[in-house]
Amino acid sequence: MKEELSLLVHVDVDSPIKLLNFYQINNVNYNTETLEQFYKTAFERALNFFSDHNIKASFFVVGDELQSQSVKGTVRKAHLDGHEIENHTFSHPFGLAGLERGQRKEEIVKCNELIFQTTGRKPIGFRSPGYSMNNELIDELDQLGFTYDSSGFWSIMNFVLKVSHKMLFKNGLKNEGFGQVTSKLPLMPYTPDKSNWLTPGSGRKIIELPLPHTPFFQLPFYHNFNLWSPSFYSDVVSKTVRKPCLVYLFHIIEFMDMKDNIPNELSIHPNLKVPVGQKLKRSKTIMDNLMKRYAITKTGDFCSNYNSLKGI
Ligand SMILES: [Zn+2]
Repeated sequence: MKEELSLLVHVDVDSPIKLLNFYQINNVNYNTETLEQFYKTAFERALNFFSDHNIKASFFVVGDELQSQSVKGTVRKAHLDGHEIENHTFSHPFGLAGLERGQRKEEIVKCNELIFQTTGRKPIGFRSPGYSMNNELIDELDQLGFTYDSSGFWSIMNFVLKVSHKMLFKNGLKNEGFGQVTSKLPLMPYTPDKSNWLTPGSGRKIIELPLPHTPFFQLPFYHNFNLWSPSFYSDVVSKTVRKPCLVYLFHIIEFMDMKDNIPNELSIHPNLKVPVGQKLKRSKTIMDNLMKRYAITKTGDFCSNYNSLKGI
């Protein structure tokens, strides 16, 4: 029974610099050494956590930070541990889908090159910063030979966040991607149609692995939201969510807290003030609940299997 349900574990590697950029906070002193230390500590904790649970995950990394030899070494270790290193663009620009074609392509290709230098493996997966996606961007990913994209994301929070961000932050947040996706986004992996990536169809090879939301209230189902919610909520949801394929998304910052040399300005980020020990305990409960029903599957294996069932 258990093998029928696949759990794909993903981690977006957004450093404090990229998160500060999202909140439009500038002039924060955060040097390369601190960044390298961030990667070391965060990856060590994440890799230990995954190894305890026998999880092989996909890490979506930002290319420009791989220019540091130390960061390269940290990411290479994850690759050598059997995790998959995938593309989260070169500089993590928000509103990627809206950028000019050449710029978009450069963001993707440069990140691929740095990942290849780091691991010797060509990335097969992509996630757009802020989940920004459209037909042109998915075409480019398809042409570049990506096996899958996992940027499709819709929940009731798209709407709530858009409104609340406008009210809370004078200048708004860098979340241009929100809103392009509609509630019509399929919930299961599919091959996006050539004329409309939001519907299953023909004309493309790339697979879309949409991020899940809960059946009731259409709330997001990813780790930071579950950490933030009351524990009875994350407990009930992680015990009951039942989709044949579930992408469960972590962010690397969830393995850190304010004691880890995080700029004070970033304390507004949800759950960063919660001690890391407490978060790990909660993460363990959620993963244990999910793994009672789900078999952890490497995303690359899932996609090969998906394609072979389709006869590709
Ligand atoms: Zn990101």
